[in-house]
Amino acid sequence: MSLALGAIADDYTGASDLANTLAKEGLRTVQTIGIPAAGLDLPEVDAVVVSLKIRSVAAAQAVERARAADQWLRARGAAHVMYKICSTFDSTDAGNIGPVLDALRHDVDEKSVLVTPAFPETGRTVYQGNLFVGAVPLNESPLKDHPLNPMRDANLVRVLARQSMAAVGSVDLATVARGADAIRARNAALSQDGAGAAIADAVFESDLEAIGAAALAQRLSVGASGLGLGLARGLVAAGTARRHQRTVLRDRPVEGPAACLAGSCSRATLTQIARAEETMPVLRLDPERLMSRVAETHRALAWAAARLADGPVLIASSGSPEVVSALQARHGRDAAGQAIEQSLATIAEGLVELGVRRLVVAGGETSGAVVDQLAIPAFELGPEIAAGVPALRALGSPHGELLLALKSGNFGGDRFFADALAVLA
Ligand code: ADP
Repeated sequence: MSLALGAIADDYTGASDLANTLAKEGLRTVQTIGIPAAGLDLPEVDAVVVSLKIRSVAAAQAVERARAADQWLRARGAAHVMYKICSTFDSTDAGNIGPVLDALRHDVDEKSVLVTPAFPETGRTVYQGNLFVGAVPLNESPLKDHPLNPMRDANLVRVLARQSMAAVGSVDLATVARGADAIRARNAALSQDGAGAAIADAVFESDLEAIGAAALAQRLSVGASGLGLGLARGLVAAGTARRHQRTVLRDRPVEGPAACLAGSCSRATLTQIARAEETMPVLRLDPERLMSRVAETHRALAWAAARLADGPVLIASSGSPEVVSALQARHGRDAAGQAIEQSLATIAEGLVELGVRRLVVAGGETSGAVVDQLAIPAFELGPEIAAGVPALRALGSPHGELLLALKSGNFGGDRFFADALAVLA
């Protein structure tokens, strides 16, 4: 396998978003959960996104993990590796964007690295080195009060310089608008002056295409999913990768019963559960009983076992805001959330042991708990079910062939569960 593109994502949701962006651009894409074990057998793909959880850990640990992921990707032929950060530049003066950038740059002996968190599709733009979230600078957005990484400065040249050993320059929008050659020339000049990184302005997708094309001449870049889009288009334009249809599910269909699990209590998910009741049996779990785990999970699995042969089922812990607040008041927010996530993950494993091969999960944290419980090391990206929600094929799963859809609470239309099952069919 020789990868056209490697990526290291600093958190799981960011990795999923990047993997989906690359797949939408036609790259055959795999997302791994952590650095894969040596024996993991991967199909022939264009891009691998290694999901780490290093956004808010100690800088030294983030550096160590990112370096190991970089080595893994480069050993598989990745000529270019993108370090995927949050489009809000989620970090503090201690890191971890700067320290990871410094280390990866040092390892591949790269000069000034292009950096841009711009992702115009989601309202993240960079102008004169300043990051905007919608219409306001980063430090006036809700991110200024982020519980772990409060962002109080919109000027990314300053923000990155405070956490990096190297000097930081900028490639302004006028230069970016002149195209890849102009960006490369400006970045080379910054390098000459001793810069180790350059914040590239980007307001439109065409800016990201130019930055992506320029970055591909180097071995490393840093950015959000928008940069992934630019790199993917650059690889296709250069003929290094071909645009593929997302046929991974059709090529190798998976037989077996289907089930849905919902732990999200978002308004969208509550509506989707109500709609699902028109087309499949739905079991609404008792959240209080779920807290003590065993009996309620057994009840859920017995209920499913009696129905799976006749078609898909949906099992939901989701409750209205009043139900959620009442449970949180009795047990504490974190304890309630974690206990229910773990119970749903146990139910997911039980369902798979009952033969379920197609599983739809609603809820970001709930999905994370399910993937951990099922010990799935990697996914191959399939077609998109709804904006931002791809169908996934598990790779190297100890439970055998498995197709999944994992969605964050607010994603998908009213008929999401039926839509997902139709794509996974
Ligand atoms: P979303 O993507 O909508 O944020 P998550 O799965 O990330 O969904 O988060 C939902 C959280 O709510 C999880 O921690 C889950 O365990 C918890 N939860 C699920 N059902 C209930 C309930 N009935 N009462 C309280 N908390 C619940």
